[in-house]
Amino acid sequence: LSQRLEVLNPNDEIGRLAETFNSTLARLEASFVRTRRFFVDISHELRTPLTIIRGETEVGLKWAKEPEDFKEILQSNLDEVKRMSDIVESLLDLSRAEEGGVHLELQEIELSEFLLGLIHDLEQQRRHNEQESRISLESYGTAWIMGDMRRLRQVFLNILNNALYFSAEDSPVRIELKVEASRARVSVIDRGVGIPAEDLEHVFERFYRVDKSRNRRDGGAGLGLSLVKSLTEAHGGKVYVESSVGLGSVFIVDLPAIPAPSAEAFIPS
Ligand code: ADP
Repeated sequence: LSQRLEVLNPNDEIGRLAETFNSTLARLEASFVRTRRFFVDISHELRTPLTIIRGETEVGLKWAKEPEDFKEILQSNLDEVKRMSDIVESLLDLSRAEEGGVHLELQEIELSEFLLGLIHDLEQQRRHNEQESRISLESYGTAWIMGDMRRLRQVFLNILNNALYFSAEDSPVRIELKVEASRARVSVIDRGVGIPAEDLEHVFERFYRVDKSRNRRDGGAGLGLSLVKSLTEAHGGKVYVESSVGLGSVFIVDLPAIPAPSAEAFIPS
């Protein structure tokens, strides 16, 4: 496949045809490489939990006697099965989003209210509600967009969970919401570990993790941000990252804004 056509004269028709052919071939090759890497990655991701389940089950069958031992093994197996389901769910979401096949249930959403709701749920979930909240929202006015509530939750939950996870326990995470011209811009700012410059352009790729060893067992398969990217793009938006090692990261989601819907007309009875 790697053979290229020789371009004798780039200006005549045959030459242009040969150049088109060569560049198509290059794209095709790159796509084969990506597909191959994808299969290696996914096999690897699923093999790890499978190895754990298999090992623990074998050891359990051979040595476990007390009900407590069995319970521990079942619990651990359940954790690994959940992990595999998450990976498979994310992959399905991702492939639907990338094929443009994700069906968006669009509605008018006011982003500051939406984000406050999300922060509330996150704090609840993390049982931080008794302590001071780690996440704060700074918004300049209201920002209306057309969006799919469930999908946008996935987008911002992924970014926020990363911001919380990759920074210290008591380190604040700030959300800034701005409307400029016809764009609504949400920045999630953390003061965490940051991302090295050479990794920045890759973090939205499937299965990409900066520190490959660090979070294998606590959740991260490197799929979250690729889903964030596809879902944001499905909404006609864009996502960016700026980061500096040791200082923190900013993830910016830029979405098309709509005019505030007018309040429903008051009809006197
Ligand atoms: P994961 O499930 O591993 O978090 P993601 O796709 O969400 O996968 O993120 C990919 C990688 O980008 C992470 O493994 C991490 O190395 C890096 N990353 C994402 N968000 C942040 C952040 N806020 N601070 C530092 N690193 C981050």
